[in-house]
This record gives sequence, C-alpha cells and structure tokens, in this order.
Amino acid sequence: MARPQRLVILGSTGSIGTSTLDVVARHPERFEVLGLSAQQRIGELTAQCLCWKPRWAVVPDEARARPLRDALRAAGVGTEVRCGAEALCDMAADSEVDSVMAAIVGAAGLRPCMAAARSGKRLLLANKEALVVGGALFMRAVRDGGATLLPIDSEHSAIFQCLPPQRQDWAQTIEHIVLTASGGPFRQRDPASLGNVTPDEAVAHPNWVMGRKISVDSATMMNKALEVIEARWLFDLAPEQIRVVIHPQSIIHSMVVCRDGNVLAQLGTPDMRGPISYGLSFPQRIESGAARLDFDALAALSFEPADAARFPGLFLAWDALRGPEGSSAVLNAANEVAVAAFLEQRLRFDAIHALNADTIAAVVPDLGDAPTLDDLLALDERARAYAADWVRERAR
Ligand code: NAD
Ligand code: MG
Repeated sequence: MARPQRLVILGSTGSIGTSTLDVVARHPERFEVLGLSAQQRIGELTAQCLCWKPRWAVVPDEARARPLRDALRAAGVGTEVRCGAEALCDMAADSEVDSVMAAIVGAAGLRPCMAAARSGKRLLLANKEALVVGGALFMRAVRDGGATLLPIDSEHSAIFQCLPPQRQDWAQTIEHIVLTASGGPFRQRDPASLGNVTPDEAVAHPNWVMGRKISVDSATMMNKALEVIEARWLFDLAPEQIRVVIHPQSIIHSMVVCRDGNVLAQLGTPDMRGPISYGLSFPQRIESGAARLDFDALAALSFEPADAARFPGLFLAWDALRGPEGSSAVLNAANEVAVAAFLEQRLRFDAIHALNADTIAAVVPDLGDAPTLDDLLALDERARAYAADWVRERAR
C-alpha cells in the first residue's frame, strides 16, 4: 500500500479542523498528521498534539507557545512549536507535506494558502475568504504551482462531485450552477425586527454547527455571497452563471444545470465530514462518519427564492464580481470587521449590511494591471481601516 498522505491542518482547533481530525482518526493507515495550528484555545491544541504527536505545531506568539511547549515536554512529545504567520507559510509549503487543509477563518489564511498553492500541494480549501480575496492571483498560484485545489465548502464540493472528472470538460458542461442556502436562523423573521438580535441568536444555525464568524455570515447570507464569489473562481464562471436558491432542509448541497437541461445534484445529511472526507480521499471515497440520509423520514425538500429585502447582503456578491478587480477583497474585509464588531456587541445586526455596502461604495480598489499578494493585502488593510472608522463613528 502507498505511504500515508502527510497532512497539515491550518486552524485545527476550529469546527472544520476538528471535523477533519475526526475523519482522519477513522483511517489511521491512510493519513499522517504532520502539522497543526491554532490562534486561540491553546488547551485544545495541546490536547490535539498529545493525541496526534505532529512534527510541528504553530501558534501566533511566544506567550502562547510557552504553555504548549511545557505540556508537550512534560508528556515526552517531541512536537516542534513554532510561532507566527511566517511559520504557518513554511509549514504549508514544506517539502514533506502532501496535503494542506486550509481551515483558518478569514483573510488571515490567504498567505499560507498561497504558500501551499505555489508549492504544488493538494489544497483542501474550507477557508473561502482566502479565495475571495486572492481571486485570480490565487488561481494562478494553483496553476503555476501545479497544486490540486479541492473545495471543502459543502456547496462547492457538491458542484465538484457533479462535474466530469476532467477540468477541461467543465465549461462545455455547465450552463449555470445553483447554490443552495438554508436561509439561516432568520429566514422567517420580519426584517424590521432584526436590529436587536443578539450574537447568540445569530449563531444558532438551524442545520449546521459551525464557527461563530461563518454562523453570523449565514444569518446575513453574506456566507452565500462569499460562496458565489468562491464559485466564480473555483469553476471559472461568469457572474450570471451563478444562482442561489433557499432550501431550508440543507439536504441538496448544490446543483449543476447542464447545457442540455439535465440537472445534477449532490445530496447528504448536513455534516461537513461528507465534503471533508471527499477532499481527503479524492478521487476515491472513504468512510466519513456522516449519518446516511433516511429517505423514508424526509418529509419534503422545499425551495424558495432569496428575498432581496430580507437578505440584501447576498446581492453584493454580483456587484463585487462586476466591479473593478479587488472589489471582492474590499467586501470581504468590510464584512470581517462588521461581523467581529457585531460579535463584540459594538454593531447592530442590521448595520452589518449597511457597513458592507458603504465600504464597497467608498473604498475604490486601486490595483494595477498585475496586482501582487502585497497589493491585495494593502487593499484589504485600507478597507478594514475604513470599516473600523465606520464602526467607531456609528457604534450603538
Ligand atoms: P472556527 O472559528 O471554528 O475555526 C477557525 C480556526 O482558525 C481555529 O483553529 C482558529 O484558532 C484559527 N484561526 C482563527 N483566526 C486565525 C488567524 N488570524 N490566524 C491563524 N489562525 C486563525 O471556523 P470554522 O467554522 O472551522 O471555519 C473555518 C473556515 O472554513 C472558514 O473560512 C469558514 O467559512 C469555512 N467553512 C466552515 C464550515 C463549517 O461548517 N464550519 C463550512 C464551510 C466552510
Ligand atoms: Mg457552505
């Protein structure tokens, strides 16, 4: 049998990170965990290192490295603890590594994703913000580096599973795609009542258990907006080839409408271990641990249009895609600032959209013909600064 796939998980303590380790634990002969990383929750990272004994663990700074090193030394575990963003990039690009699970949240994951792409890894992409910000530059790094980009977002995994195996056949297959959206916790709430919702109400997703940032994004449907942009790059689509429908049961994970009118859908229970296991084992299939769909118990699959009055944020995706290059990075930066401020109770829920829309209108991208990663990150900084000022001026 082939040697185990050597895996690094960026953001291993998060929702996607822990689900990835859950799948990996079912197949000890197939995978070797070479590296783990976390920003906070060092206790959880310590427990993961004690269990998996990776070669490296990366944390942001020495203050967080110290307790981890102490605990590992006491247990006789030889994991090397490294610090900082550069160490994340080095780990993602190390020649010993086959696969990188990108499960950091936000644009903070862009540099290590680019490092993995440039060094030709199998790149399992959950970190949608990285692709939204990186756009064409990210896709060029994948191509030039000879990387294999495997979507982990359930919608994009669904599309990927429906498409023919050869990438060159995709364009002549796809008329358009339909991303499904659950509608989140406020699908039936009166939009006028959304001003005072609390962070706990917003993160209480009806179908999925996820990190707090993506849960808020699901409540505003900014998550779907980011996914529209993500799909544009993953599948090389024009903005008008991407549609969204609300499907409250989250059973159909997305659909491809083919040029001959045939429609392909991928179904499953709402459990991220489905797409994660497919990314890990592609093109084969391995046990994921996800519960099987019980068709006898499925009462109905229903669909409804996404309402612009209730979910105005969704429609910013097409504005950003049709705007100047860099508009998606501006939108993402504004949204990261807005969601963080909302979770810290410095911004009302309904102000998230206002902030995003204002930032897109005010921060005009100034990228030249061939923007570099540093140009994109500078634009991201500029949009964050504008959004942070906006929050300070209009805070509740
Ligand atoms: P999470 O908040 O649960 O976990 C995030 C992980 O990244 C943690 O390990 C955290 O320590 C680390 N991290 C956070 N900020 C960091 C920074 N600045 N630098 C380095 N590491 C940092 O998030 P999640 O729900 O697991 O989501 C991760 C990514 O996957 C997001 O981009 C999200 O949109 C995407 N995604 C998640 C789900 C889901 O079901 N959770 C589904 C689809 C896509
Ligand atoms: Mg998704």
